[in-house]
Amino acid sequence: SRTVWINGSWLPEQEAKVSVFDRGFLFADAIYEVTAVIDGKLVDFDGHMARLRRSCASLSLACPWDGEALRALHQELIQRNQLDEGAIYLQLTRGDSGDRTFLCPEGTEPTLVLFTQAREIVNVPQGIQGIRAITCPDIRWGRRDIKSVGLLAACMAKQEARRQGADDALLVEQGFITEGASSNVFIVTPDNRLVTRPLGNDILHGITRGTLLKLAQELGIEHVERPFTPTEAREASEVFISSATSLVWPVVAIDGVAIGDGAPGPFTRRLRERYIAALREQMA
Ligand code: PLP
Repeated sequence: SRTVWINGSWLPEQEAKVSVFDRGFLFADAIYEVTAVIDGKLVDFDGHMARLRRSCASLSLACPWDGEALRALHQELIQRNQLDEGAIYLQLTRGDSGDRTFLCPEGTEPTLVLFTQAREIVNVPQGIQGIRAITCPDIRWGRRDIKSVGLLAACMAKQEARRQGADDALLVEQGFITEGASSNVFIVTPDNRLVTRPLGNDILHGITRGTLLKLAQELGIEHVERPFTPTEAREASEVFISSATSLVWPVVAIDGVAIGDGAPGPFTRRLRERYIAALREQMA
């Protein structure tokens, strides 16, 4: 069984419990982060913690743990659970307000939970062979830049993808793809430009997205941040999604239409390989 960290205690997962009056449970009044672990080391940790601060600030949610304390917790959790590859999930809620009340009383103690998920990240078929995606309407709220735990729309989109025999969903709003259900989306245009939607309130500011854009810059790859349509994605040379736990997954079909020749393209494969090499170098 895993060891979980909850409000200052290390507990076996069966014993880690949260109050029914916890605001994370009742209102999704909570934020989270997911940091990948590869070779037993944290990937892009500073970026994830910087975003955690921004999410906290946007919700006036005080986080009593500073960056160094959070790093120490992550590292101890990796050690206790002997995690070599996978992710650390962190969730911070506004805490237990003793009853169901929309307005949170002053002085509640936040709830902080961290646990590990052991899973392969590098050698996965989705990364090597690619995934099939559907498009579906983006029915989420207006502050997707805050990494908050209200993920019902993402669950519904992924369920619909499975119902249609696909692996994941790309979300569409006002005729443009916003992002994936739990990822950012990139396309490679027929004239070899890397395109991804610009940052705003309408997408999560993916840490992996940011790192990939920096890497593209270093590699001298032409890239543009602008919205693109599902039609442009279907007609692109290559499409891929990015997230902490997928890194880069080629999208080989959208709504049953093959992208390019229906196999992961050279550009996506190269970026994925360079990203994995870069993060292993960085951590060495
Ligand atoms: N967009 C959404 C909606 C997500 O849920 C995620 C992460 O799971 C991402 C983008 C990718 O963000 P990151 O690269 O920081 O994991």
